[in-house]
Order: sequence, then C-alpha cells, then structure tokens
Amino acid sequence: VVGRRIREVVVRNPNLRWPVPVDLARTLRGEEVHAIRRRGKYLLFDCREGHLLVHLGMSGRLTMIPESLPPLKHDHVDVRFEGDRAMRLTDPRRFGAMLWLSGPAEAHPLLCGLGPEPFDPECNADSLWRACRRRKAAIKVALMDNHLVVGIGNIYANESLFRAGIRPTTPAFRISRGRWARLVDAFRATLRDAIEKGGSTLRDYVDSRGEPGYFQLDYNVYGRSGLPCRQCGSVIREMRQGGRATYYCPSCQR
Ligand SMILES: [Zn+2]
Repeated sequence: VVGRRIREVVVRNPNLRWPVPVDLARTLRGEEVHAIRRRGKYLLFDCREGHLLVHLGMSGRLTMIPESLPPLKHDHVDVRFEGDRAMRLTDPRRFGAMLWLSGPAEAHPLLCGLGPEPFDPECNADSLWRACRRRKAAIKVALMDNHLVVGIGNIYANESLFRAGIRPTTPAFRISRGRWARLVDAFRATLRDAIEKGGSTLRDYVDSRGEPGYFQLDYNVYGRSGLPCRQCGSVIREMRQGGRATYYCPSCQR
C-alpha cells in the first residue's frame, strides 16, 4: 500500500460504527499513501492532504485483493490502487470505521486524548506513578483506561497484574514507583508474548493471512476461576470491576 496511488474508492455500505463520509471517494482519488502507522486501535494511512483512519472494531479485516474479486456480503469498502490491487475492508459486525482526517492526526478528537503507547519510552514507572498519584480507582481499572496508557484491555490487564504480583483492587495511588516498574515490565512482557503468539480475541478472528490468534491457550488467571494457580496452587478467584471480569490469585497477588 505504501507508495501506491489511490485510483478510486467503492463504498458499498457506509453504515459502520460511524458513517463512512459521503465524499470519501472524491477526497481519496489521486491521493498517495506515504506511510502506515498505528495509534491505539486506530490505523493511520498518511496521505499528502490528510490521513485515512481505519478502526477494525470487533471483527474488521483489511485484505489486499485483486480488484476484480467479487465482493461478499460483508465487504463494505474497496480502496483501489493503480494497477489491479485493492484494499478491502470486511466487517461482519460493522463496529469498525473508515474516516478521513484532514488536519494533523494527533489533534483529532478520537486521538488527542489517548495516553502513550505501552512500549513508548515516555510510558514508564515514573510517568505512570505521577499520573496516578491522586487516582482512587482500582489499579486494574486505571490500567484499562486509554487516557493513562493505550492497548491494555481486560485480558492483558488481568494477566499483567498477575505477573507483577499486584492485587487488581489496589487503589492506583497506593502503587509505589517500585511496583509500577514491575508492572510496566509485566504489561510489556504480556503484550510481547501475545503479539508473538498472534493475539487473542473473538472466536471468529483471523489475521490478514487468515490465521486465528492463539494467546488464549496460555492464560495464568484470565478465565481460570476455581482452577489452581499455575505458580502456587491456590484457587483462582473471580470478581467484577467496572463491569468487567477480574481474575486473580489471592496468594501471588497482594
Ligand atoms: Zn498463586
């Protein structure tokens, strides 16, 4: 996609999480993709005059196809490039999005409130400790808050807190700098493992090569309530926090 010029855009169904802009096809015609980036869950295709933003929602998928491949029911948008290739957005649940950002991407309302990326050096024990000094929310709830740090959803919050030996209900302001250092190491290690193993998500998820994610096989606590802790043998407990399921080991996490 990088370096290719967009010839035309076909929108078959604009009714995604937010409607695909009616003038998207006109805006994109003749644009060239310079680079592709990711910020939080948003993919950004940097063009000359702005950015094409794509969100895959729960079930979205982008595939490069020969332009003539007939569309199926959930193939909502084709971005056609010069030559015979097209980038197709498929999204059965239609929670995804495709928007055009004309200004600087970072200033857009969807992106400007996002916390740092978990692997960004600016996201460290010091900055997180500082940001949470007055936060009474439980550490697990804080960890899942995109304003603090992006990319840590429910499964990875549970697994990271287990690795760091921290009880998920601990108020965020009680986490010392030293424990934050352990937690940063833990969420990075957890994310790195998950990325290596292909991620984890809905049962029908497949990546751009059509392969399913497998991370679900290795959880330490997530979904394991009533089972013995892999580290100490204590029974894993389950509770709810902010409407989401929390799992922890009462002995390893204090
Ligand atoms: Zn344990």
